[in-house]
Amino acid sequence: MKSKLSESPFSKNRERPFVYAAFGKSAYENTRKALSLFDLSPVCGKRVLLKPNAGRVAPPGSGVVTDPQVVAAAIDAFREAGAAETAVGESPITGVNTMEAFEVSGIASVAASRNCPLIDMDELPSVETDVPEGKAINSLKVCAPVFDYDIVVSIPVMKTHMHTGVTLSVKNMKGCLWRRSKVLLHMLPPVKGNSEKPINIAIADVSGILRPHLSIIDGMTGMEGLGPSAGFPKALNTVIVSADAFAADAVACKLMGLDAENIDHLRLGAERGYGTINIDNIEIEPGNWKDFISPFEKPPENLSIQFPNINVLDKSSCSACQSTLLLFLKKYAGKLSDYFPKNEAVNIAIGKGHDDVPLNTLCVGNCTSKHKNKGIFVPGCPPVGSEILNVLSKSKTKE
Ligand code: SF4
Repeated sequence: MKSKLSESPFSKNRERPFVYAAFGKSAYENTRKALSLFDLSPVCGKRVLLKPNAGRVAPPGSGVVTDPQVVAAAIDAFREAGAAETAVGESPITGVNTMEAFEVSGIASVAASRNCPLIDMDELPSVETDVPEGKAINSLKVCAPVFDYDIVVSIPVMKTHMHTGVTLSVKNMKGCLWRRSKVLLHMLPPVKGNSEKPINIAIADVSGILRPHLSIIDGMTGMEGLGPSAGFPKALNTVIVSADAFAADAVACKLMGLDAENIDHLRLGAERGYGTINIDNIEIEPGNWKDFISPFEKPPENLSIQFPNINVLDKSSCSACQSTLLLFLKKYAGKLSDYFPKNEAVNIAIGKGHDDVPLNTLCVGNCTSKHKNKGIFVPGCPPVGSEILNVLSKSKTKE
């Protein structure tokens, strides 16, 4: 049993953390500029693990994955500071091939040109890890490299998130959890005597054992709206660096037009003393950083608003199910009437929380399997969009 509470070697003043936001068109230059404001000498002779967001298969500039030039600049900066080894690791969402995600994101290419190893962290063993201050979880399976390397750097892309408000440095560490352990965080029961969403409590719990030593937030092209994968790219042309992941996230939130105090997993983690989100207690440079605030569109409260005549019955689903369904509906919503009674709204259920569903419901994802006799069932965890159409085309639930 292990834990990895990090006192960052890059932190000068824990009470008043420093955040630098570099602005400009070049992801590489912004990252080098921001990192140059930090004393990187603690990496000398150490092994450094970079944890970008390459959890999905998406190209650079899509706002889904970390910009490869941010990763390239980080590799170069840590090597120049004397790191004994620098590697890039990821454990993507279920169903995604890690190496394919690295390839399509462009991270594989910048790593190869620097002879920097890529690690599919799901291919290595997990480490069962206690979460001593956990409220929603008591232990976690963590990818072994997170403990093998001396320094862990979180390099997320700046996004809004349909379940957690935003996904930034703190939430990006969820991608250090082994294989399906990540999905399990979305399936937790309510915490007794606590009205907060279990996923937000769980992310704060993860922060209790897995805070990065340094955060580099890629805000070159982020994602607004239905993040983490079905929103729209939004350029902010910034890279934010801090030794305090919560402070970095709080500044990113402000630049996105949000308050970290309203992002539950950040507020809960800060309340436990894992970092600072009060902007007044953060030293932020450059002094004119507020001039670059550009509000991100928030995720819609309910998918049905976007698709008239379709009722999305969502009870405690994961973002993976929502993303699959949204992308499917964007493409095929008009075709659903071919498979369901005409002149009636189509009900689609996702998530684990349904006691019952109406007759003729399209039940998407394994969580809805107990209602499969009420309509059409699409298996998968997460389900695959093409499978929804496949199952529909074989179904008999028509007029
Ligand atoms: S079926 Fe969907 S909602 Fe259920 S655990 Fe899998 S991804 Fe999450």
